Amino acid sequence: MSLRWFFGLLLAGILLWIPASSVAQDTNVTVHVVQRGETLFRISQQYSVSVEAIAAFNNIADPTNIQVGQRLLIPLAETVRPDMPATHVVQPGETLKSIASRYNVSVEDLAALNNLVDIDTIYVGQVLNLIVVPTTEPVPTATTEATMVASVPDAPIENTESAPFLYTVQGGDTLFRIATRFGLTVNDLARANNVSDPTLIYSGQQLIIPGLKAPELALDLPSAIVNFQVEPLIFVEGETGRFRFTTTEPMTVGGTFLDRVLTVASDQAGTVDTILVGVPVFTEAGIYPLSLTLTNNAGEITPLNLNIQVLAGGYSRETITIASNRTDLLDPILEASEQGVLQGIMGNFTPTRYFDGPMSLPAAASISSPFGRKRSYNGGPFDRFHAGTDFAGAPGTPVLASAPGYVVFAGQLDVRGNATIIDHGWGVYTGYWHQTQQYVNVGDYVNTEQVIGTIGSTGRVTGPHLHWELWVNGVPVDPMQWVQESFS
Ligand SMILES: [Zn+2]
Repeated sequence: MSLRWFFGLLLAGILLWIPASSVAQDTNVTVHVVQRGETLFRISQQYSVSVEAIAAFNNIADPTNIQVGQRLLIPLAETVRPDMPATHVVQPGETLKSIASRYNVSVEDLAALNNLVDIDTIYVGQVLNLIVVPTTEPVPTATTEATMVASVPDAPIENTESAPFLYTVQGGDTLFRIATRFGLTVNDLARANNVSDPTLIYSGQQLIIPGLKAPELALDLPSAIVNFQVEPLIFVEGETGRFRFTTTEPMTVGGTFLDRVLTVASDQAGTVDTILVGVPVFTEAGIYPLSLTLTNNAGEITPLNLNIQVLAGGYSRETITIASNRTDLLDPILEASEQGVLQGIMGNFTPTRYFDGPMSLPAAASISSPFGRKRSYNGGPFDRFHAGTDFAGAPGTPVLASAPGYVVFAGQLDVRGNATIIDHGWGVYTGYWHQTQQYVNVGDYVNTEQVIGTIGSTGRVTGPHLHWELWVNGVPVDPMQWVQESFS
């Protein structure tokens, strides 16, 4: 819709107040009754109209505050195809050809609209423009629209409509404004993007918009695969992702992602497979292939290849200084051998899953250092990173198991001090370093929040704290993601 048209309609709507019943017969406006769970953003997507346009049209001052049952007037976009959404999020198994045929447009038009040079390089989670969407100006107020009609030039035709899953920060944006636009709180948005200071966002920064999940589709998947989920649709350096798919018959599944061999958890019938993936810190942002091979009992092989986007984790940097009388602890041979011990334990895979739902925090203490900070020790290169989350607790504070599982290590390490490792199944392990007391032994089964030890300062530390680590498929990842999300 052109802005001129929109403001003209807005003016008409304000000058001649039209009852909802007659508006419904107007082909350019429809009435939407707000359903439970809907946000203005979701409604705006459904009709391909901006949040600002709906808010302005309905005199809504606070777009986060809409009520179930509320009747909204929707100024419909001026599209030839009112059934056509503005964008399409690429699903596992889709090709540009299948998407084009779904919306009855040509592959060439779709490629041109999205500046795609190579039609084979689309990736899961990519947002494709289906129609040319003019950018929308900020909400006009009822008293200024008359002058705006005269002064606003024709809307520029650009493909800058924000993506539902990935939003590029524009000049003048604030986290509050972006959050409001997508029906989120500033906290939601800051947490999803590891933004520690909400005032520090920059133009061109890409933000993940959490909580928006595309419906499951099974277009163009090989016939043996009923559905395929990628969660989240876009992966992040240092975080966990999950592939889950259902097959028509039991399959043996193998595959690779980020140059690592994947481990696969199957349900009893062998038709639902789950692959948990840890994206290593220092993975460059980019598009990476997921290659799977599914083999049925008759030996027939079904290959499946998808492209997955990985974003940078945005981790900050810190310099750690180790006192001169403790530099022995920076010994690379010692560090490598201890890392080898961890890899030998936490890099395994137990096919049974003991965890269920999100994990609980390992201590009633505040976080003193987050996961992922790139580190330099004593002025060296920033080639290390903080592989866990630190909790500042007084010595003696109980250390709690984050989820059910079996204790697979309880002992003393040079760098990590008194350490406990719990196997939660499906290749998921948690580690608890620097403890004073340890109350559990190898082979013990522990429950969520069971006291397994106490906070201390054993190993390479500058003061008492608990370092909590979580590994997925042999990769240390941000454990706090597991407190907020379920991967079971
Ligand atoms: Zn730590």
